[in-house]
Amino acid sequence: HARRLDGIPPTVFTEMSALALRTGAINLGQGFPDVDGPAPVIEQAVAALRGGRNQYAPGPGVAELRAAIARHQYRHYGLSLDPDHEVVVTTGATEGIAAALLGLVDPGDEVVVLEPYYDSYLAMIAFAGGVRRPVTLHAPDFRLDLDALRAAVNERTRVLLVNTPHNPTGTVLTRDELQAIADVAIERDLVVITDEVYEHLVFDDAEHIPLCTLPGMFERTVTLSSAGKMFSLTGWKVGWASGPSQLIEAVLGAKQWLTFTSGSPLQPAIAHALDEQAGFYADLATDLAERRDLLCTGLAGLGIDVRVPQGTYFALTDVRRLGWDDGRAFCLALPERAGVVAIPAQGFYDDQQAGRHLVRWAFCKERAVIEDGLARLGAAD
Ligand code: PMP
Ligand code: GLN
Repeated sequence: HARRLDGIPPTVFTEMSALALRTGAINLGQGFPDVDGPAPVIEQAVAALRGGRNQYAPGPGVAELRAAIARHQYRHYGLSLDPDHEVVVTTGATEGIAAALLGLVDPGDEVVVLEPYYDSYLAMIAFAGGVRRPVTLHAPDFRLDLDALRAAVNERTRVLLVNTPHNPTGTVLTRDELQAIADVAIERDLVVITDEVYEHLVFDDAEHIPLCTLPGMFERTVTLSSAGKMFSLTGWKVGWASGPSQLIEAVLGAKQWLTFTSGSPLQPAIAHALDEQAGFYADLATDLAERRDLLCTGLAGLGIDVRVPQGTYFALTDVRRLGWDDGRAFCLALPERAGVVAIPAQGFYDDQQAGRHLVRWAFCKERAVIEDGLARLGAAD
């Protein structure tokens, strides 16, 4: 294989889901819900497939979806976007991450990224020829260390890559933390790419604040999101990027050579979902908060140190009290020991000291599945 793949391990999500299939273990690893999104949205996609929406979509995406994304941004955040120049539909947020980094990072540019980082950031910063500069969110509360953020920025820094609500810690950045990021971005004239795919999956009194809504930030921020998380349709791979036209032009400049355009029949269905199904993600968040409590209480009862997440559908834990120092070894042994799969977090860290003993559990699974997983863990040696 090409040298650009060296040093980039295969994605842990595929590895661990394959392990779950092979061993028949309960999959509390990869983050996908086990109940599909709204039936009327699926019917809209069927109608689009039958109704002749089967040829290439326009490069930036089907017009009705871009308009619905703009309406969503206005309804939730008071943002007025021009759907023709400030929105581009992507093949999941994964393509948004790729296109934003390839379109905005030059070889040698440094990209400051929150650590633990989602694995595709590592790969795509490398593909773009960039250099990652992690800022660690430290246990036990995984908040942003403002001094570490400032220390990570230098004259080679080009992009701040942010993720809130944050996978895998479940941290939702506060207004003060976001303001600190904004201050650095403005002072150093940096571009910000912010991955907000879990924007609607926040719990209790945590509030998701889009970074681009802070003063002076819209003009320097590319915001990424995904219908996969919002509507429990992860397999559809419909995402989007929004921001000022000159940055979106750069995203589209890369996107046109990655996929040219994203799949057309699913786009009108997601437009419908954004306009008509806001209740779905509101209910999902309420329901997820209960399943979070079920999982976190259960894990804590087994002697695992749990950080209760404020958002996303993941809980990050420290397995040292169980006698395991290495989370990857723990996860590789777990299917055999207990019939459960979880995700080791150490691949999301440069700082192996910080990440070695951390394990992520998904709670976007039915209650019975979580209960079964907990029972199996409780019965393990
Ligand atoms: N960013 C984060 C933080 C994620 O957890 C995920 C996984 N869904 C993605 C991006 C990718 O999103 P999509 O499935 O829309 O490509
Ligand atoms: N984003 C999900 C997770 O973090 C699924 C993995 C993926 O999309 N690559 O588990």
